[in-house]
Amino acid sequence: MSNGSQKILVTGGAGFIGSSFVRVALAADYQVIILDALTYAGHIENLEEVLKPGLCDFEKGSITNLEFVSSVLKKHQPDYFVNFAAESHVDNSISGPKAFMETNILGTFSCLEACRAYYNSLTSDKKNSFKYIQISTDEVFGSLNDTGKFNESSAYQPNSPYSSSKASGDHLARAWFHTYKLPTIITNCSNNYGPRQYPEKLIPLMIQNALIEKTLPVYGTGKNIRDWIHVDDHTRGVLLALQKGKPGSTYCFGGNSEMTNLEVVNSICSYLDEIKPRKSGQKYSELITFVDDRAGHDWRYAIDDSLAQKELDFKRQFESFNMGLKSTCKWYLENKIWSEKIQSKMRST
Ligand code: NAD
Repeated sequence: MSNGSQKILVTGGAGFIGSSFVRVALAADYQVIILDALTYAGHIENLEEVLKPGLCDFEKGSITNLEFVSSVLKKHQPDYFVNFAAESHVDNSISGPKAFMETNILGTFSCLEACRAYYNSLTSDKKNSFKYIQISTDEVFGSLNDTGKFNESSAYQPNSPYSSSKASGDHLARAWFHTYKLPTIITNCSNNYGPRQYPEKLIPLMIQNALIEKTLPVYGTGKNIRDWIHVDDHTRGVLLALQKGKPGSTYCFGGNSEMTNLEVVNSICSYLDEIKPRKSGQKYSELITFVDDRAGHDWRYAIDDSLAQKELDFKRQFESFNMGLKSTCKWYLENKIWSEKIQSKMRST
């Protein structure tokens, strides 16, 4: 817990994971400043009932603009900086990689440079506690075969434009620690699911398509494996990294829930069959269709997060994927207004 006076500057706080982190930080009594460019993936709707002047402020702008990031640091004088802002969808990185290089590499560079100048201007007390957290993904480690898990010592072997841009951001954060002594920490997390995820990603896409009786497109054979973590477990882990993590370290977070994509889609279908049966009497799984595989599709990701458990006291509250998935499906059913607003924005872009 904070004493109510510590401030965290959160980039990308209007996105899926950033907005969960904002709630987790406010609940732990931090003040929050959100810096977000509100791209197609960022939504003020994700911050409803959260923004309050002086407690949770919002600054609109891009992390690629060094002067802007510096001015927000100067204005709000935060104690911590957490960089969630990113282009985050692998498919988009394949069709248009440029924005990924700009935001995930040059944007991270601006954040680090702005923080370096800010850090050097701090009093020694504030310097001792300041931390910069770089939020990253397990995808930087490449693809696993059927056995083994990634951990903090895994080699970087990114395969997509997205994961290579995230890997570059990680390397920059590491270099700014070693070269300039900026207290950076990197977190690498597995696939997240939960409320407020933009419906381009597997789980919200399937829930939303099912509810409007659209086909459920599954890549290839559907056998690729991901390790699913509830977004609130991830963001509680990030807060622990900020509070207890050692500068210069990396921490991995995972869900201990490996599932094939097809298993995930079938679980969504079975749960929706229970709570919102189709009018036709057919099963939702009949909407599943297999589509051409994603180019360079990584086979399997899995995370061993025993270091975070040991050093940060990290514990998952959603121990079972089914429990988290049920609460997620319920959230999308109960928050139709959110879904409608996001879908109408999707149609207009
Ligand atoms: P998201 O796409 O839902 O949100 C990204 C947010 O960043 C949006 O609010 C967007 O407006 C903002 N943004 C994008 N470009 C910006 C820029 N140039 N300047 C300022 N803001 C900008 O993404 P997410 O799923 O919430 O992911 C957040 C972070 O977590 C990313 O760094 C991502 O790589 C990482 N991550 C995601 C997952 C996952 O499963 N989604 C897993 C591990 C790590």
